[in-house]
Amino acid sequence: AAKRGGRGTYQFANATMNEVALERLRLESALRLAIENNALRLEYQPLIHLPSGRVVGTEALCRWDHPERGAIPPSLFIPIAEDCGLIEALGGWVLKTAALQLRAWHDAGQPELMMAVNLSARQFQRGVVLRQVEEALAVSGIAPDRLELELTESVLLHDGEAVTAVLRRLQALGVKLSIDDFGTGYSSFAYLRRIKFDKIKIDQSFVRDLIDDPDNAAIVRGIISLALSLGLRVLAEGVETEEIAQRLRHLQCTYAQGYHFARPLRPEVFALQQGLSIPPV
Ligand code: C2E
Ligand code: MG
Ligand code: MG
Ligand code: MG
Repeated sequence: AAKRGGRGTYQFANATMNEVALERLRLESALRLAIENNALRLEYQPLIHLPSGRVVGTEALCRWDHPERGAIPPSLFIPIAEDCGLIEALGGWVLKTAALQLRAWHDAGQPELMMAVNLSARQFQRGVVLRQVEEALAVSGIAPDRLELELTESVLLHDGEAVTAVLRRLQALGVKLSIDDFGTGYSSFAYLRRIKFDKIKIDQSFVRDLIDDPDNAAIVRGIISLALSLGLRVLAEGVETEEIAQRLRHLQCTYAQGYHFARPLRPEVFALQQGLSIPPV
């Protein structure tokens, strides 16, 4: 199509594609450097037990402060890391850092706190994730059942057999598995039979409109009852108002996460809020 448009159009399209490719390359090498120089950091968003309002743990969320461009969201740099083979290094660093941070909080007087870490499908492809989880457990000394690995439904579709085998071995280590963004992927219930997950996290797109949209309310109610009848824990993501929190309590949802309770926090801020006076790792 570009050729038929004549010489001018062709060059224009070409220049645009070069620009996109260049931009991508720049981000890629900046990300590579950030990983090498230990310039990524983690924030921790509290996970709330709805009936009591207590903080039961946190989810580790990766942050990249680009020297010139400021904060780059994970929705942008995680896919880049996945595409250019950096996700294994990044994921290993996240696991280890989050586990060490949890250990510090345990030692500072909250030994019950759990830590949730996101894993992407690519981390399963070569099975490296198993060794990385073992290593994170070993260096931190945390109890395996305090660590929860969040997978999206896409992980479970990739390569059924191989992924299932890795997940079973992870479970044999004693770590917990949860399904992130539930309801946005394929939601094939087949994998709920293959793997015994610990928790389902209802995607924030359903939670956000819980009050105003009867369809979303029906979906949330359905997911909660599915989880409870399968004996799984259930958490609602993206809870932004007390009204939604109230509704979720009414629907017997056990856990919640969202700006209404707390934003993702720097570790020193989380420690301060929890009354833990320790330096961040
Ligand atoms: P996620 O795992 O579903 O994490 C929850 C996202 O929702 C986070 O976005 C969090 O900041 C945001 N959030 C929490 N509460 C609220 C709320 O009340 N309202 C709204 N509008 N948003 C809320 P964030 O930090 O930008 O991360 C986006 C996604 O990037 C994550 O979604 C996860 O899929 C991915 N991600 C982040 N860190 C990592 C990581 O270390 N490894 C991998 N593989 N993926 C990561
Ligand atoms: Mg998550
Ligand atoms: Mg999510
Ligand atoms: Mg998400």
